[in-house]
Amino acid sequence: MIQVTCHCGAAALTAPSAPVEVTECNCSICRRLGARWAYYNPLEVTLPAPATTQVYVWGDRMLAFHRCKACGVTTHWQSLDGARDRMAINARLMDDLDWGGIRIRQFDGADTWKYLDE
Ligand SMILES: [Zn+2]
Repeated sequence: MIQVTCHCGAAALTAPSAPVEVTECNCSICRRLGARWAYYNPLEVTLPAPATTQVYVWGDRMLAFHRCKACGVTTHWQSLDGARDRMAINARLMDDLDWGGIRIRQFDGADTWKYLDE
């Protein structure tokens, strides 16, 4: 189990395992957040208490980005479009992650919607 916490600790998640790879996306929101996304099945993740996060939804309203109400750190996103088999956790919030063994992939969410390393 991997613990995921915002800066103040109010918003905490638990992931089933450390990611093998994470995604950095250059779309308009991800590049601003600076997040490294690790994808999981929502059924495998323990989510923060709803009262601890605020939600940001924009554009075509496919994703809900959650951030801690107290410290503002973005913790994860969840799908709003019915593709409920996938969510993303901001791996930068994972405790004691060994980044040396994790593949960091670049996703061109701004334009082609393809991985740039393929
Ligand atoms: Zn916080």
